[in-house]
Amino acid sequence: MIGPMKAITFAGFRDVEYEMVDDPSIETPTDVIVQVAVAGICGSDLHPYHKREEGLDFGAVMGHEFVGTVVDAGADVERIKVGDQVYCPFTTNCGDCHYCRVGLTSRCARGQLFGWVGHGEGLHGGQAEAVRVPLADSTLAVVPGGVTHEQALLLGDVASTGYYCAEQAGIHADGIYAVIGCGPVGIMAIHAARHLGAELIYAIDTVPERLAMAGRAGAVPIDYRAEDPVLALHEAAEGHGADGVMEAVGSFGSARSAIELVRPGGTVSVVGVHTETEFAFSPAEAYDKNLTYRVGRCPARAYMERLAPFVRDGEMEIDDVISHRLDLADGPDAYRLFDEKRDSCTKVVLTP
Ligand code: NAD
Ligand code: ZN
Repeated sequence: MIGPMKAITFAGFRDVEYEMVDDPSIETPTDVIVQVAVAGICGSDLHPYHKREEGLDFGAVMGHEFVGTVVDAGADVERIKVGDQVYCPFTTNCGDCHYCRVGLTSRCARGQLFGWVGHGEGLHGGQAEAVRVPLADSTLAVVPGGVTHEQALLLGDVASTGYYCAEQAGIHADGIYAVIGCGPVGIMAIHAARHLGAELIYAIDTVPERLAMAGRAGAVPIDYRAEDPVLALHEAAEGHGADGVMEAVGSFGSARSAIELVRPGGTVSVVGVHTETEFAFSPAEAYDKNLTYRVGRCPARAYMERLAPFVRDGEMEIDDVISHRLDLADGPDAYRLFDEKRDSCTKVVLTP
């Protein structure tokens, strides 16, 4: 590709722009350039958008969910070929450090998050016509036959994250579970928990269409403004609370709900990105619940290929989380739609 390209860039509080930026180019021999076919907007993009997360440079290309075609490859790239249709986790990974070897690819010693550039350092994102992918051989995977671009995009982030969240919650068929937050990640956690055998899952949010989607995914929806989830759950669990709580929001309030909903001996599994500096519960509360608390960034590279067959074969029907398909040029409006949950927006994909 020659000349500048179009991209969605960070411009400040509740502000992104559609503008021309420099084309990405091969910077190290393990890089490839991917021409983007579809790019997603994620709840994580809303943290810098709301300035909850600080330090993102103005002009940084946003986004960490994309699928596309490899159009250029560095001299040391062997496994991935020009012309491959590829999907990608939201961070890069080297494949051979301690963390990659144990499957915690999201903590790769050389890993970088797409769409995060601070003080000029970092990696531009995928809400653009093209994106540079470092460590391409260990980061990218070829989209398997029968898996759509949109499904592959979801596998690279929210579907893997939801699955990770559910696995970390210790799902078994007899348990009672709660999912806090019915955004795309929470919806994926419901699909995953069902896939792992959970039969009774309460899904908590306030947005009607998201609660309805949670219901279609197999959960019992609770609008926490209309009904107290703690009461509902304790009633169902004979006063004990949930065996596992999956928290897919990332706020003080959602963390507080999680500790109130979990039963003694239960597990709180957190994938919501937290920017607070203090826990929402005390060490004494944790002690008194014999709490297991699991939290962190999903190692999507270690999940996406394992989950792809479930999605391809319809064992997990995840695509209907996508409510809007828009042009990359409509990115700024798409952010507003998704952020304000207008027009029943649950998830947006952008097409350059
Ligand atoms: P989203 O913003 O679309 O969804 C959040 C949902 O939570 C909304 O529907 C909102 O109405 C609901 N909510 C807000 N406060 C609540 C509360 N107190 N109780 C119950 N529901 C509440 O975002 P998303 O794309 O679904 O992402 C969810 C979270 O997961 C974000 O924090 C995102 O950054 C994070 N995330 C983490 C990882 C990871 O690897 N850990 C990966 C992807 C996303
Ligand atoms: Zn994301």
